[in-house]
Amino acid sequence: MEKNIQTLMEMLRDAEGRKLDAERNLVMAELEVRQALSKTLGGYAGTFLGVGICAAAIEIGHWACETSPIAVCVYDDWSDPIHDNCLYCNNPEERK
Ligand SMILES: [Zn+2]
Repeated sequence: MEKNIQTLMEMLRDAEGRKLDAERNLVMAELEVRQALSKTLGGYAGTFLGVGICAAAIEIGHWACETSPIAVCVYDDWSDPIHDNCLYCNNPEERK
């Protein structure tokens, strides 16, 4: 069954809309994880003036982490932009 170009374009636009929604949901879900982590890291010793870690500075790594509440390494991108020191296990993001 052949579809006309108009129908195919509508399907393409629908798919693009669903992709955009999924990307927004992904960003919002990650922000919520960062905000939750930020709350639990309020007393972290390395924080500037005891202010805690800004949710926006929290970088979620890629390595499994036994001590992290999200089971993945987490970095403070503000004080540790090279991600040398997981906030939970102290391991770097770059490993061989
Ligand atoms: Zn870790």
